[in-house]
Amino acid sequence: MPGFEIIDKKEKKAVNSIFKEGGVLFAHGFERMRKKFHIREFEKMFCKKFKCKHSLAVSSGTAAIKIGLKALGVKPGDEVITQAFNFIATVEAIVDVGAKPIIVNVDDTLNMNVEDLKKAITPRTKVILPVHMLGVPANIGSIMKFAKAKKIKVLEDNCESVGARFNKKYLGTIGHIGVLSFDFGKVITTGEGGMILT
Ligand SMILES: *Cc1c(COP(=O)(O)O)cnc(C)c1O
Repeated sequence: MPGFEIIDKKEKKAVNSIFKEGGVLFAHGFERMRKKFHIREFEKMFCKKFKCKHSLAVSSGTAAIKIGLKALGVKPGDEVITQAFNFIATVEAIVDVGAKPIIVNVDDTLNMNVEDLKKAITPRTKVILPVHMLGVPANIGSIMKFAKAKKIKVLEDNCESVGARFNKKYLGTIGHIGVLSFDFGKVITTGEGGMILT
């Protein structure tokens, strides 16, 4: 957590090396000045560790949720179901893409209550967005089973439980899309950052 980060010489050396390797810009043709793209190495490491096909690093977990919702075809007026115990960014991302957040209650694990979820489905439900809170997996097995039967897509918000697993599978690789955050209060940090897994 802030003030107690484990950031030492190794991290400082890695950051400084970027400036020696041709700078930090990689758009508008500037990428030709770069020798290395550590971000692409980082993405590959995630695919390998998490055993998923694709990973895309972005500027934050919030950005990752927004891109994920758009990739799943969420349009203004659609409903996205998420949960009451949460961090505000999930709802902000839903509102930002023009969709309507539908909030269901949590169960004893403080994650999405599957019975409440079932009652919240309407013809406008586009995505179910469970959040794995504080290192504890949501009941993602039941949620996936239900979502598949209803032909609704699932976006796992795994900003708070990077590295935790459900039935041996890493959280974030079970739904249609999974998102991670590397904000400075999270399990691992890049200062600010996020990742989309598919
Ligand atoms: C932190 C967090 C986010 C947003 O991540 P940022 O990188 O801060 O944008 C989204 N959802 C949950 C559950 C979070 O804890």
